[in-house]
Amino acid sequence: MYWIEKELELWAGASLERSLRESSTVSKSPGYTVRGERVLLNMSSNDYLGLAQHPAIIEVMREALLTEGAGSGASRLVTGNRPAYGRLEAELADWQNCEAALVFANGYMANSGVIGALVGRGDVVFSDQMNHASIVDGIVLSRAEHARYRHNDMEHLRTLLEKHRDKRRKLIVTDAVFSMDGDQAPLRELAELKREHGVMLMVDEAHSGGIYGLRGEGLCHELGLQDDVDIHMGTFSKSFGVYGAYICGSRTLIRWLVNKARPLIYSTALPPSIIAGISKALVLVQNEHWRRERLYAASKLFRSSLCNAGFKIGAGDSPIIVPVIVGDNAATLRFSGALEKAGIASVAIRPPTVPDNTARIRFSLSAIHTDKELTDTATLIRTIGLQQGVLHP
Ligand code: PMP
Repeated sequence: MYWIEKELELWAGASLERSLRESSTVSKSPGYTVRGERVLLNMSSNDYLGLAQHPAIIEVMREALLTEGAGSGASRLVTGNRPAYGRLEAELADWQNCEAALVFANGYMANSGVIGALVGRGDVVFSDQMNHASIVDGIVLSRAEHARYRHNDMEHLRTLLEKHRDKRRKLIVTDAVFSMDGDQAPLRELAELKREHGVMLMVDEAHSGGIYGLRGEGLCHELGLQDDVDIHMGTFSKSFGVYGAYICGSRTLIRWLVNKARPLIYSTALPPSIIAGISKALVLVQNEHWRRERLYAASKLFRSSLCNAGFKIGAGDSPIIVPVIVGDNAATLRFSGALEKAGIASVAIRPPTVPDNTARIRFSLSAIHTDKELTDTATLIRTIGLQQGVLHP
């Protein structure tokens, strides 16, 4: 096992080693996190709508714990399928305006399980090169051929679709909003290519569910493309503030997944308290429009403050993800360390999560951030950026 130590030394030398750090919640201040002795403004959470500490969600989870117990005790296909699962899935299908829905333990398991249930040896998956790791792992596990197309490059995708014309089953899969840049997939063109080539289309709305659409359904709904997408995927761990994931689509799709999606079949059902929390969050996501509106306003303010300060903030215009590209790994770590000293929790994202030389601080916004917190943060970022030579005025 000596090789592990040697590899780790190499990683550490290149400022690439990751480590687990404790971050505690501050119950009276949901937008903050505690690291060591210090309370920091949390600019790296996925709690986009500020629901993770919502008292109504916590209350229904507490009640479910008391009445239903701590765990579900078995897989859903054994004895873990509590009635609340079916009720939630009916609510999800209604929300997404689909025939049916299926809850998974988390987004990673949904992506990695669903792809393998739909394609296998002799098939092909067309996947954007910037898609989330859980999609990549799903493709690898499926044993289908992985046809990676250049990021959002529809001409490249078209070439690959033609090249693989004779394959048995074909699936295009994309993030709706890419998690590291906050940019959007060209969903209209993808829907057209899907129709033209008669392939399946799967869209991961992890960073767009709750954010776009009249009831927070996601980007496909916002663009009126919901019926073009065969497999809608989203998580409950980000905008919903809870945990878990969904797949929505046709009744036939869901029936197939119940029989074929291994993470659903071979893993214990989510605890009933989580299902109760998701159901409550779903009501809030659909009805509390002010959270989305607040997020859009906050993002406009934060983005313009950073742009005015001269930062390179990535190609996207997502209301939640604002990446400040630094480039060098060590410089990015120093930048995030200095921000932490100044009271801001912001995580340095480095390769292999992002391409080489594009290390960055990925700021994420939440509906609970105030204007003052955001403008103060932008000022601090500017001051520290200038001090560290990250920002060249
Ligand atoms: N898809 C995307 C695009 C993600 O960003 C993530 C989480 N980072 C996932 C899937 C996995 O979701 P979960 O955290 O629920 O496992």
